[in-house]
Amino acid sequence: MNKLNDILKRILTGEFPVTNNIKYYIVIYSLAAVHAIFIFFFLFIRIFPMAIYNLLSAVTYLSCKKILQKENYPFIYYITCGEIILNTLFTTLTIGWESGFSLFLLALVAAGFYISYTFPRRKISSPFICGILASVTYFCSYFVGQTITPLYPMTDKWIFQVLYVFNSVCTLAFITVFSILFMVDIRVSQNKLFEENKMLGQIAGIDALTGLYNRWSMENFLSDAFATERPFCLIMCDIDDFKKVNDTYGHECGDEVLKDIAKIIKNHVPEGSYVCRWGGEEFLILLNEYSLDESATLANKIRCFIAEHHSVFQNLQIPHTITMGIAHHHKTQTIESTIAKADMKLYIGKRNGKNIVIT
Ligand code: GH3
Ligand code: MG
Ligand code: MG
Repeated sequence: MNKLNDILKRILTGEFPVTNNIKYYIVIYSLAAVHAIFIFFFLFIRIFPMAIYNLLSAVTYLSCKKILQKENYPFIYYITCGEIILNTLFTTLTIGWESGFSLFLLALVAAGFYISYTFPRRKISSPFICGILASVTYFCSYFVGQTITPLYPMTDKWIFQVLYVFNSVCTLAFITVFSILFMVDIRVSQNKLFEENKMLGQIAGIDALTGLYNRWSMENFLSDAFATERPFCLIMCDIDDFKKVNDTYGHECGDEVLKDIAKIIKNHVPEGSYVCRWGGEEFLILLNEYSLDESATLANKIRCFIAEHHSVFQNLQIPHTITMGIAHHHKTQTIESTIAKADMKLYIGKRNGKNIVIT
């Protein structure tokens, strides 16, 4: 039971994919098996044309294996439709409508729309056409069955009962199997979409160069922090004289410095707090539940680390410093005003010689 659960789980998660080939193998082998049973049944009740018909049908389905290897799914579908339609007409004429072979037409309509998802787009009308043909065959064979006497009229009622029950069970089994496959397909697609959406969401919220959150993500974190009405601090950081780094060592070197500084800041930001690349060479740190003093201590630690640490680019040691402005947010203020305050402090820091933390 546990093993069955495990297999079902793996199918549902897409880990064990039910490929199109598997679906068609189910179709051709199960129909071949049904016809094989009928060969013996009709031999037993001595209706030889029906036994021969079933033999030919079984062989036809088994030879579909070659078509399946070429993945020509529409062709197998057309063969199945044709065979089921022919089967209904043939059995109605030979033994009568009551045998219940027409029930397969109902399964054909239901399963046809599902299986047509394996077709190329231009063949999308096929299940509609086959569905109409199956419906017309259903009613035609009903009226034919009511008006003419079959070639092999049967006096034994039990034969009809056996045939009807067997055909009903097979039809229900086909519809059930295809409904389950349909459900599995939807579930697998849902899981796949969910995972892809999650991945896209992550990519969309990350700055490609530094790997930090981007401004869009930070705006969400800020809204969340604002909604809690709990205090927090914002640190606006800006690399000092970064233009000079670009001008002296080149843009590529500037990128390396940006990545290095981003990594240092990220390593210093505690859990539950966030850092993002706010702009070109600006970073914004959101420190949840931090006081101004605590934030200043952390900011100075980061500032000193950055000043002491040199980036290495093509064997060159690149020194750098950073200026930071800190603002404490109170629930009565807007986020914009707190950001503006941090920005203003940063500006004061720049005017006061840079490589400094202003609170
Ligand atoms: P200050 O100390 O006043 O901040 O001076 P600064 O030179 O750092 O500031 P300024 O605003 O004059 O120049 C910022 C520079 O940052 C200019 C821009 O080319 C560079 N920059 C912005 N984004 C990137 C980036 O992604 N990569 C690189 N290499 N440089 C960038
Ligand atoms: Mg700047
Ligand atoms: Mg700068």
